[in-house]
Amino acid sequence: MASQQQILLIYTGGTIGMVEDYASKQLLPFNFNHLYVQIPELKKFDLKLSVVAFEKPLDSSNMNPGIWKKMAKIIEDNYSKYDGFVILHGSDTMAYTSSALSFMLENLSKPVILTGSQLPIGKIRTDGKENLITAIEIAAALKDGKPIIPEVAIYFEYELYRGNRTHKYNSEYFDAFESPNYPVLAEAGVNINYNLPAIKKAVAGKLKVHYDLDENIVFLKLFPGINEAIVSSILGAPGLRAVILETFGSGNAPTEKWFISALEKAIGAKIIILNITQCNSGRVEQGRYETSAQLKNMGVIGGGDMTSEAAVTKLMFLLGQKTSVGEIKKLLQKSLRGEMGE
Ligand code: ASP
Repeated sequence: MASQQQILLIYTGGTIGMVEDYASKQLLPFNFNHLYVQIPELKKFDLKLSVVAFEKPLDSSNMNPGIWKKMAKIIEDNYSKYDGFVILHGSDTMAYTSSALSFMLENLSKPVILTGSQLPIGKIRTDGKENLITAIEIAAALKDGKPIIPEVAIYFEYELYRGNRTHKYNSEYFDAFESPNYPVLAEAGVNINYNLPAIKKAVAGKLKVHYDLDENIVFLKLFPGINEAIVSSILGAPGLRAVILETFGSGNAPTEKWFISALEKAIGAKIIILNITQCNSGRVEQGRYETSAQLKNMGVIGGGDMTSEAAVTKLMFLLGQKTSVGEIKKLLQKSLRGEMGE
């Protein structure tokens, strides 16, 4: 690691910076100074570490596009001054933030590593120390003078994942994340072993930050017994621009007439319908079964192997682009930031 590396730590909140309120036994956000007290090792790094802390640390359940924009702006404003960025974030919605940032930060060529913890930093068994220290090391890592990870990634419990391929799957284990359809980018053991073929190649061009996001989107998760009144009322929501249809298996849905007509009506009203699977891994292949052929024929878009976090943030980003519905549908089926296999 070169000694001159400059890393910016952006502290947004989450368990990593929380303390237990002894009276109520609730975890409450605490002031960032807590981290320095708890991890004096941070001062020993052979690099320059600067910190920007949110004035009011957030539980990540309160995260929203406005705050993603704030993070993107901090990165944009400091992009030329720093070699890498580490974002401390609650684990609950970390995969949404990492997905959103991957779309917002076009031509990213420096590491943006999100991390957090399952146990507060103040607890003896905390997972936060290792996560933070290794995330910083990864953000500073160079190969042939260039950042090894020129993309948005999540580091958690010895593994580094592509940000827009990751999903929080466990609320109990330290190993809380997985990337079911994409290999890990690195594993930390005695050494940090980088999976170089899986890491995005740095792109030429100036960083371009996209701040326009449109959240007029809904998830519609199918289940046997879902009824017409509920589906129609969801599809008729005022201002709705896109629906993420969470289907069965490889993209299958009921073939009942009322259901098909409701979707056709929505598509006729220029609402985009994106099909992703409820399965934890695998991909949507519309047309493989009769129960998905109709979706394909009416113009439902297959979301391939995208996570739901990538799907919703990609839609927010594309809907914010002020381009035509046809163009958005085309781009939804293309990998823009390595979020889907093609
Ligand atoms: N509720 C916390 C959050 O997401 C959990 C965590 O940090 O792991 O902010």
